[in-house]
Amino acid sequence: MNLSWKIFSNTLLMVLFALTLEGVVLLSMTFHKTYLLEVEREKENIENIHRELVTVLANDSSTMYKESMNSIEEAIDILKDNWQEESYRIRDESGKVLFQNNDEEFSDKETAGLSPYKIVYGVGKNENRYFLKMSVLTELLDEPVIIETHKDLTQIFAEKAEQQRIFLITVILVGILSAFINAFNAIKLTMPIHKLIDAVKKVRYGDYTERVEYKGNDEVGILATDFNSMAEQLEEKIQLLKETAKKQEELAGSLAHEIRTPLTAMIGYADLIKRSKMKEEDLLYAVNYIISEGKRLEALSNRMMQLLIDKNAMPNITISTVQNLLEDALEAMKPVFDKKKITVKKSVVDFPIRADTELMKNVLLNILDNGGKAAGINGKITIEAGCKNGNVWISIKDNGIGMPKEEISKIQEAFYRVDKSRSRSEGGAGLGLAICSNIMNIHNGEMLFESEVGKGTTVTLVWKGIVDEQDV
Ligand code: ADP
Repeated sequence: MNLSWKIFSNTLLMVLFALTLEGVVLLSMTFHKTYLLEVEREKENIENIHRELVTVLANDSSTMYKESMNSIEEAIDILKDNWQEESYRIRDESGKVLFQNNDEEFSDKETAGLSPYKIVYGVGKNENRYFLKMSVLTELLDEPVIIETHKDLTQIFAEKAEQQRIFLITVILVGILSAFINAFNAIKLTMPIHKLIDAVKKVRYGDYTERVEYKGNDEVGILATDFNSMAEQLEEKIQLLKETAKKQEELAGSLAHEIRTPLTAMIGYADLIKRSKMKEEDLLYAVNYIISEGKRLEALSNRMMQLLIDKNAMPNITISTVQNLLEDALEAMKPVFDKKKITVKKSVVDFPIRADTELMKNVLLNILDNGGKAAGINGKITIEAGCKNGNVWISIKDNGIGMPKEEISKIQEAFYRVDKSRSRSEGGAGLGLAICSNIMNIHNGEMLFESEVGKGTTVTLVWKGIVDEQDV
């Protein structure tokens, strides 16, 4: 049973129960009051009858009756016209009816065992007629006499039945109406919950794009907002997981591809050495080839290890200066740059920085190496550095071959090379910038590239490495 039906049935039951209870109590009270009023009137009537009979029968000159009566029948005969409204009967104790004003049916057994002067009464029913029956045992002329009256109560009972009928109809109508209003409200209230249920189902079956639209500020609104932000985070995480899985797949593919070529060549040369008697000169060439390719594979394995280690590394941040960092890196690159006659122009104001200097030097070496390779013989490299908006930046510009704009977004991926054959011939495996990117990430920084084919490339390193809050 859903919530709307529960509210509908519960409301219906509650309203019916409450109204019925109230109605039964009210109707009973009203009826009882009317009944008691009738009883009081009837008692007065019966007392009047008795009083008048006593008065007429009394030998008393103060009464309006000039002479006293000698028999009850006589007294009744004089008085009977006064007692018009009721059905009454007067009889003696032996059961002899002294008078009855109409043909109303009185039951004799009701008056058995009456106590003197005590009025007894009750409700009687005769076919569809209700009446109040009242009797009293009294004494007239020293004789026991029973006075009985019947008062018609059919009208009162009919009114009670009518009131009950109207009340019942009202209760049912009010109950159904309020149940419908409540059920309508419940449907309105549960509509967004149904939307949420549908949305949760969709998320369960893998549709993380599902969102719930609900603008209210109530609990359902809070739930909808929380659901949406949960779905958003889930979608982002799943997307990230997918991308990571895809990257890992590509990485594994690239790695396999990367090691297959040298391995094939190495196996080829080893096979040749094993099968044929080679000239000493050829043998030396083959062995050297195997050694150099072996070293290349070893270097590749080291770079891969570094890639993994850097990704999860906790940087050992120390305070250094931008000059020290650059000098260290340029010192290491000097033989390469000298060999290619590359000129390096450095215009840097010295200032303190925070960084893992070992890792950051690694980044600078990679960038300078790439710049040197791109610039070639007689190339130029310009280095600038400064602080801006709380960040340290170092830019390294070369006047080399540059690269097309669409390549820039991919060069930080592992094994990605713009010019594959050239890069490989220069000993690159396309891992350098991937490693640099990881190092910049753990410094909360990034590498920005600007490049134009034939003109050169500028790489800017930016990270939160500021020591003095002052732009330089
Ligand atoms: P590699 O070790 O092969 O150089 P990197 O990850 O360092 O790999 O660089 C990826 C690719 O990006 C390089 O193969 C090269 O094609 C391109 N690249 C990087 N720096 C520059 C640069 N300064 N000028 C032109 N191309 C560059």
